[in-house]
Amino acid sequence: MTKPIRDELRQIPLYVPGKAIPDAVKLSSNEVPYGPLPGVAEAIASAAGDVHRYPDLAVVALRDALSRRLGVDADRLVTGTGSVALIGHLLQAIGGPGGEVVYSWRSFEAYPIAATVAGLRSVRVPNTADHRHDVEALIAAVGPDTRALIVCSPNNPTGPAVTAAELDRIFEAVDESVLVVVDEAYREFVTDPDCPDAVERYGDRPNAVVFRTFSKAWGLAGLRVGYMVAAPEVAEAVRRCVIPFAVNGVAQAAALAALDAEGEMRRRVALVASERKRTVMAARELVPEVPDSEANFFWLPLGDRTVEFAAHCEGLGLLVRPFAGDGVRVTIGLPEENDAVLEALRRFVEAGR
Ligand code: PMP
Repeated sequence: MTKPIRDELRQIPLYVPGKAIPDAVKLSSNEVPYGPLPGVAEAIASAAGDVHRYPDLAVVALRDALSRRLGVDADRLVTGTGSVALIGHLLQAIGGPGGEVVYSWRSFEAYPIAATVAGLRSVRVPNTADHRHDVEALIAAVGPDTRALIVCSPNNPTGPAVTAAELDRIFEAVDESVLVVVDEAYREFVTDPDCPDAVERYGDRPNAVVFRTFSKAWGLAGLRVGYMVAAPEVAEAVRRCVIPFAVNGVAQAAALAALDAEGEMRRRVALVASERKRTVMAARELVPEVPDSEANFFWLPLGDRTVEFAAHCEGLGLLVRPFAGDGVRVTIGLPEENDAVLEALRRFVEAGR
């Protein structure tokens, strides 16, 4: 007997996580390679004594800490079970029949899934030949049914970030009834001064929504804490969609401790950024089309050779993230891990594959 399941859900692909194989070097999920920040493990141990209690529903201490750090009123902040959950909730808040959401492709794989679940039609705008958002084409794709335009900056999985001029142009061109969503999961890794901090530059706009996460630079991927900044009315609507107690008490304590270790976070991020520069330059000698990256990963546009290269890496104990027929995303790891990737790439290219 046919089960009462929505047809469109059968058509969306399941989210594919980066592979994890014991003893392999994992460069497939854009995590930082250094372990938790100082003070985080202690905060987790101390919060563990309270796990028989529900956590603070309103996440007051963490929201206040973020509010002070970002200079944003707490009523503009929403926390959730990773930013991926909040992306889903935002689209639920604006979803329903007839609506569309515009975003670049290729970009973060969760967008089409979240859009479909929210009952929104996806309008995908191809990236430029150099793997950047095509800003004019994104603007042109916005129509009367568009409820949100998502900008992923830096873009997962290709790496470039949008410039202030590009984002200014989007905010100018798009009607205020359309939400301009800037997904800044990798913001802390950005070094190009032309690429703006969207909270700082657009935080006050009524249609701006910015997503951030503790999963990447802050080293808490396993605890699932993300947040968003938006106009109070939008934040309130998203809060209504969030499942109660979405951020557990251990995660709240760990995120607070991570914020206290901001100096060390910045030091680690600087190491990643310098390794990124070195690795991208070396990779480009083998694959000239490798685009600039402002994130903690880089993109190898290998087209038809994508799956073969990922298998070649796996054979050498290196896990990378293939997007079949398109390219491979490689997380920046420790220097010796990046060297191993470059060596794998050299062998692959020299073998004429
Ligand atoms: N946005 C982008 C662009 C991402 O790459 C990711 C993680 N892969 C997320 C959001 C979600 O991160 P999290 O749910 O761990 O906060």
